[in-house]
Amino acid sequence: MSNASRMPTITPATPSSFLRPPNQAGAPTPDPTPPSQSTTPRRMDVVHEEQMAGLKAIRDFLRLRTSYDVLPVSFRLIVLDTTLLVKQSLAILVQNGIVSAPLWDSAQSKFAGLLTSTDFINVIQYYFQFPDDLKEIDKFRLNSLREIERRIGVVPIETSSIHPMKPLYDACHQMLRSRARRIPLIDVDDETGQEMVVNVVTQYRILRFVAINVKGVQQLRKPLRDLKIGCYENLATATMETPVLDVIHLLVKKDIASVPIVNADGVVLNCYEAVDILTLIKGGIYDELSLTVGEALLKRPDDFAGIHTCTLQDRLDTIFDTIRNARVHRFVVVDEKKRLVGILTLSDILRYILLEGIDGGENS
Ligand code: AMP
Repeated sequence: MSNASRMPTITPATPSSFLRPPNQAGAPTPDPTPPSQSTTPRRMDVVHEEQMAGLKAIRDFLRLRTSYDVLPVSFRLIVLDTTLLVKQSLAILVQNGIVSAPLWDSAQSKFAGLLTSTDFINVIQYYFQFPDDLKEIDKFRLNSLREIERRIGVVPIETSSIHPMKPLYDACHQMLRSRARRIPLIDVDDETGQEMVVNVVTQYRILRFVAINVKGVQQLRKPLRDLKIGCYENLATATMETPVLDVIHLLVKKDIASVPIVNADGVVLNCYEAVDILTLIKGGIYDELSLTVGEALLKRPDDFAGIHTCTLQDRLDTIFDTIRNARVHRFVVVDEKKRLVGILTLSDILRYILLEGIDGGENS
């Protein structure tokens, strides 16, 4: 595992653990008796009831709060004009340490969508379909991104947005429906009737807000092995030797944001993320795409925080502890030998807290 990998703490669900010590993210506790084996049927009922009460508390909270509440008191927002060159926009994202930005169409004075790593992946795919157009690629502006999608045959992602005063619960549902990991907040100026980009809320910001403010998360004590959330079959993986371009194609084909990197024994060594592509092509040198994953990972910034792992014994209360303390977007689920078992992303957690036990919900 990468040197900075961390595991959520594991606290066995015995009665004494009801007074759980504060989060010790980064200091995994050995789990002598996995909860699902040590618990009696009666105890399991209690754990289940508490889990459902915890979920209810989270949903009630999300219904009461709005996206405005998630925003810090003061914040910086970078909005990019659609007349900017794609390569300039990439440089701005990288320089500012951000991975997406709302777009603004100044000709029509309106919000024009969200620039994300997917757009750069599309440019890369365009380059590979039309390698002779390299000179032209350098001249692409943000307002040509839709045209690039059309030429490579990608179905354009519907630009979803929400009013910041709408309940967070609606924003979460909208994200799940559109499979978006972030949603722009768009308000309208009362006097001019003009759209205003307020900010963008992400799955991470919402789940961290929940982790900080909802006591009910402490009641989520069912181990992952009983929750059936995350993906455990047909996992998309790669090795250090896989060409990074193959990984990019995998991200697109499976519509996922990361691919665990494993060795021949299935031991997890790292994770290649869609956002890593920004660092890879920041110089505009598409030749870097001939690198292997191992070489590409060396290009990550020195302060890269590492990847987060967990085991099937982990529970959502400790997962939320980690979300509160670290900017984490997914947990790679491993066994005791650090072999890949599955992947649990923020989308999976969001879907579970919103839909579990609700008629028609995927987990019901
Ligand atoms: P994400 O967009 O990364 O939040 O993932 C969307 C869905 O795909 C979630 O249900 C994940 O569990 C699943 N998923 C994410 N990464 C992988 C992967 N490498 N292989 C298979 N499924 C994945």
